[in-house]
Amino acid sequence: MKDGGMASGAIERVVIVGGGTAGWMAAAALGSYLAGTGTRITLIESSEIGTIGVGEATIPTIRRFYASLGMTDAEVMRACEATAKLGIRFVDWKPGTSFVHPFGRFGQDLRGIDFHHFWAKARAAGQAAPLEEYSLGAMLAREGHASVPLPNPPSQLSIFDWALHFDAALFAAHMRSFAERSGVTRIDAKITDVSLDGETGFIEAVTLGSGERIEGDLFIDCSGFRGLLIGEALGVGYQDWSHWLLCDGAFAVQSERVGLPPSCTTVTARTAGWQWRIPLRSREGNGIVFSSSFQSDDEARAELLAHVPGKPTMEPRRLRFTPGRRDVAWAKNCVSLGLASGFLEPLESTSIALIETGIERLKQLFPDKGFDPAVIAEYNIQCAEEMERVRDFIILHYTLSTREGPFWQACREMRLPDTLAAKMELWRARGAFIRYRWEMFHPASWLAIYGGFEHLPERIDPGVAAVSVAELAPALEQMRAAVARTVSDTPTHEEFLATVDGAA
Ligand code: FAD
Repeated sequence: MKDGGMASGAIERVVIVGGGTAGWMAAAALGSYLAGTGTRITLIESSEIGTIGVGEATIPTIRRFYASLGMTDAEVMRACEATAKLGIRFVDWKPGTSFVHPFGRFGQDLRGIDFHHFWAKARAAGQAAPLEEYSLGAMLAREGHASVPLPNPPSQLSIFDWALHFDAALFAAHMRSFAERSGVTRIDAKITDVSLDGETGFIEAVTLGSGERIEGDLFIDCSGFRGLLIGEALGVGYQDWSHWLLCDGAFAVQSERVGLPPSCTTVTARTAGWQWRIPLRSREGNGIVFSSSFQSDDEARAELLAHVPGKPTMEPRRLRFTPGRRDVAWAKNCVSLGLASGFLEPLESTSIALIETGIERLKQLFPDKGFDPAVIAEYNIQCAEEMERVRDFIILHYTLSTREGPFWQACREMRLPDTLAAKMELWRARGAFIRYRWEMFHPASWLAIYGGFEHLPERIDPGVAAVSVAELAPALEQMRAAVARTVSDTPTHEEFLATVDGAA
């Protein structure tokens, strides 16, 4: 773009509508990407409307996102009240049990065969510990430790990754100050009208409450659930996935922190959904995600408040959503990002990650004023497939849950998407993983969920037959003990945060 852009066709004006997490992340990343090209970026947000204000748990890709803007972990963590997140702890999804989905792998492969085949054999014979005990990331998260992974891990047992819990408003503010330093212009105003070109249907301009028109070549819709440009102005439809993901709303509440912050997000299954706990430095974010077909607002709110450990510092906020995605994320000269492009419940903290991949993809496929349909088609297919893969991963948790109650039964009885059914069949038949294109979650993540629910395959790698359970048990025990030793040698989460505070 910078060297090869043809002056006549190059995008000269980018207009970002919305200043939530999506809008400011896009502004920061595009401000950096387009620096020096002469392209002007304007972001319009309405402080009267505000932002959704939730979205505080991330996955490790967020660290690569801000690193690409030259920001360090310490800088972002200090600016955003952040704590370390080494995984998600699932409580009571299988009643009376808990397990961690870490950002990392499990165990050490043996004889060139994936570890989990050996574990499954030994576990079925009652000779192995729960899967998470063979994962450094999971055990650090479970025991409240945190550290930066070694750049050259000495063995597979040392491989893990980490992400952040942060204050969403502070993170957006941090992105904003970076974007404004890169030359992005901010306008605080309410958009009251969107004008389309009568011939092409492309967006020409948005009109502000003052009557001022802001024209653009490329519009980025980050206006939240409403989809002001992509949905309301361009009429792009929405694929509703609520027959697969039954939860359609939430209550969110902040509370005073109690005790030391764990180094993981906790998600606890409840009557008709689940509850999150996200530890920040000086407070906690809490919420309940539930299905309004199976639980009333009053019941969900009461269930949330009964399980918030610290004193709530606000009234719980009611949020409603429809799981699904836009038919296309990019239509004409408008690319939607964030909630405007679709939403999946935050069980695996994927919304911000989908914003990152959307921005990355936009940079890879950045258009000129010709808006070549080949570019738009490729963008849309990648976004659609990626979101469908995340959808399948989230449904997996509900399908495997053994909880009682009408909501959970309905989750188990539904017909699964074919893509998920095929993955589960292969796991059953051979303990193997299908990897489609644009997967956000790798086999280790699928293993974390299968293993956490003790959903063992019926058949495993035939090569495992060469090792008896009697031989396996001590080898597994050595791995488990090595993980436990490393955990006890690793700083606690609190010590880690003190190091961050002291870092230059
Ligand atoms: P918003 O924050 O809604 O921002 C929309 C912007 O558009 C605002 O600035 C608004 O002022 C502006 N706007 C709208 N209309 C107009 C107008 N007419 N004129 C001018 N400006 C306008 N994600 C995660 O990754 N991790 C999580 O843990 C997580 N938890 C969540 C929990 C819940 C219950 C929900 C609902 C979502 C959660 N998310 C999570 C998703 C996350 O909150 C969003 O992906 C993220 O905040 C991005 O939102 P946004 O910027 O798209 O929209």
